[in-house]
Amino acid sequence: MEFLRNLQRPITTLSGVGPAAKTSYAEMGITTFSDLLLLSPRTWEDRSRVHPLGSTQDNQMANTLVEVLSHSYFGMRTGKKRTLKIMVRDVSGQGDGRLSLLCFGRNFLEKTIQIGRIYYLYGTVSRHHGELQCSQFELYPATEDGDFPRQFGKILPIYPLRGSLSQRLIRKNIQEILKSVNHFHDELPESLQEKYQLLSTDEAIRSYHFPPTIELLNQARKTLAFTELFYLQLIVRRHKGLQQRLASQGPSIPTKLELHFMEQLPFSLTKDQMTSLKEIREDLDGELPMNRLLQGDVGSGKTLVAWISALHVLSHGAQVAFMAPTELLARQHAESAASLLGDLGIRLAFLTGSVKNKERRLLLKAIAEGQVDIIIGTHALFSAEVSFKNLAYVIIDEQHRFGVEQRLALTQKGTVPDVLLMTATPIPRTLSLTVFGNLNVSTLRTMPPGRKPVITHLVNEQSRRRMYQAVGVEFKRGHQAYFVYPRIDDSGQSDLRDVISMYDFLKQEYPDVPSELIHSKLDEEEKVTILKNYQAGKIGYLVSTSVVEVGIDIPNATCMIIEHAERFGLSALHQLRGRVGRSELQSYCFLVFSNELTDEAKQRLKVMKESNDGFYIAEQDLLIRGPGELTGTKQSGYLKLAYASLTDDLPLIEIAREEADLILTTDPGLLAPPLASIREVLRHAPPFTAEGSEA
Ligand code: ADP
Ligand code: MG
Repeated sequence: MEFLRNLQRPITTLSGVGPAAKTSYAEMGITTFSDLLLLSPRTWEDRSRVHPLGSTQDNQMANTLVEVLSHSYFGMRTGKKRTLKIMVRDVSGQGDGRLSLLCFGRNFLEKTIQIGRIYYLYGTVSRHHGELQCSQFELYPATEDGDFPRQFGKILPIYPLRGSLSQRLIRKNIQEILKSVNHFHDELPESLQEKYQLLSTDEAIRSYHFPPTIELLNQARKTLAFTELFYLQLIVRRHKGLQQRLASQGPSIPTKLELHFMEQLPFSLTKDQMTSLKEIREDLDGELPMNRLLQGDVGSGKTLVAWISALHVLSHGAQVAFMAPTELLARQHAESAASLLGDLGIRLAFLTGSVKNKERRLLLKAIAEGQVDIIIGTHALFSAEVSFKNLAYVIIDEQHRFGVEQRLALTQKGTVPDVLLMTATPIPRTLSLTVFGNLNVSTLRTMPPGRKPVITHLVNEQSRRRMYQAVGVEFKRGHQAYFVYPRIDDSGQSDLRDVISMYDFLKQEYPDVPSELIHSKLDEEEKVTILKNYQAGKIGYLVSTSVVEVGIDIPNATCMIIEHAERFGLSALHQLRGRVGRSELQSYCFLVFSNELTDEAKQRLKVMKESNDGFYIAEQDLLIRGPGELTGTKQSGYLKLAYASLTDDLPLIEIAREEADLILTTDPGLLAPPLASIREVLRHAPPFTAEGSEA
């Protein structure tokens, strides 16, 4: 009995895998038998049924038995340029169409393809000048006894290729692996197989690669997808009792530290902030590890909630990790934490990729020895070199940039910590349930009091002047602005306005207002200095790319000007607009667009003009773009699902979640004998491991 994901033999032991194939496989992340079995075909070619020549449409596949009638040549009479043309006739008994096989570059076939003989033909048919033709084809001589050649009458997998790999080789290799395994260990309890008409793991993996019928292929795919989703849910949401957790403190009340902190705030928390804090506290004190999403529009006060909740854990002597998606934001959070929490005697540390050498070594040592309480950083916090003394709580800002795999990597750093994900881009409930398993949601619906909704203007070329004047008035009032452009310079010679040339232009427009450029090509130090000066009011406006998109918090900035707004997605626009309107000052957003707009772009701008509500905007985004884009699953290989699709398999996801839930509530330790197979899989070869999960 072997586990699908635990066949560690190297593929180099397979016949036909030399150095070149090894390299190409490695590029696809394939080094072991298991890796190769987990390679999913892109598609399958159905050669199981005869498609005779007569009834095959343009661009369809012919799959039939033919007799060779004649050889002829076309093109130049002599020399290499002439091309062999083989005329064949259908002899499948299902029509007698004729077709010309055009043998570009394969004139040698004249010798091997004999007139009068019968062959199996598979190829794409096209019609030219009333003649059926085929230039990409496979021909195999029919055997005496009429047996189909190996490739015919089959459903053949088509794999993604790389480098020196060919379909033939991959098929052969996979076949060899499948032969070498007597039987694959079942990954699902029989009850689930029966209930959902799934195959055994053994049958599923074999039928998936080499399906005897389309029906079995579908069943195999469903089985493997279900299995994968089931384990995803199971892994994400289980582990009661696996962690040594802090004992529950009874009813969840704020600790002294929290109360002290809240009392000294210059404002009071919003009702939603209070409610969210209470929910988070209960999770933190509860038996199960917290798995909670804190969603709220930009500026709704999520970060503050996160810091207060961190205090809750700290007063038990545990460590907190706070992760931001970029270095810039991590730094900003570190600074705000220092000013908010510094007085409380909390020991803070800042860890990103740019902390190097001795400083890094000392920092890592301090973290490992428990000499710091809160560690703020980027995904560098995930790396293997970081070990915590007692990591109890992980806060992740802007959740959509982090994947499940990274989270698993973290949870595998010893105990299972509580996790709080923060996002300003709310995701639809079904998807949140699926991607994150048992995810609870806290929502900040209201803004801190006194906030005025940002007024959004759509600006075309004709009203550009008026916009500059309006922004000039804001400068006179001592307020600040952001000018955002899609690119840094116009090296691509496009007619887009860009940061560098507009920087010069704006200097003419506002000669008395100090300004700075900021974009991704600047190094971290420069960016940080610029932002500091901006924050201190020494700079009137920033001219930038969308690096200001996430999280930057400058309350005195009241104008956001986005040029070529039609090129930005809704969530980016909303994030950018969220950089203003962060105080009681009236703020403005100017979306400058060019005259040729696609329908989609028009829709987006309309949504932005109409609404300031992040939830509404996210919903519209979903309608306009579709769910895969929204969750980031498409761009970033978010979750490496081999068989299931987060967008197409929603019904299956729901079922997998319910079943995993049922099992975990009735038998959290997976102790019942029918669950033995699950236990075994989790022990030996779980579908999701944290390996290779760099951010
Ligand atoms: P988010 O992380 O949701 O974008 P922040 O936590 O950064 O929002 O809060 C935005 C700004 O609002 C910060 O300057 C923060 O100090 C302030 N703030 C947060 N909560 C309140 C509140 N209840 N009343 C007034 N201001 C608040
Ligand atoms: Mg924020």
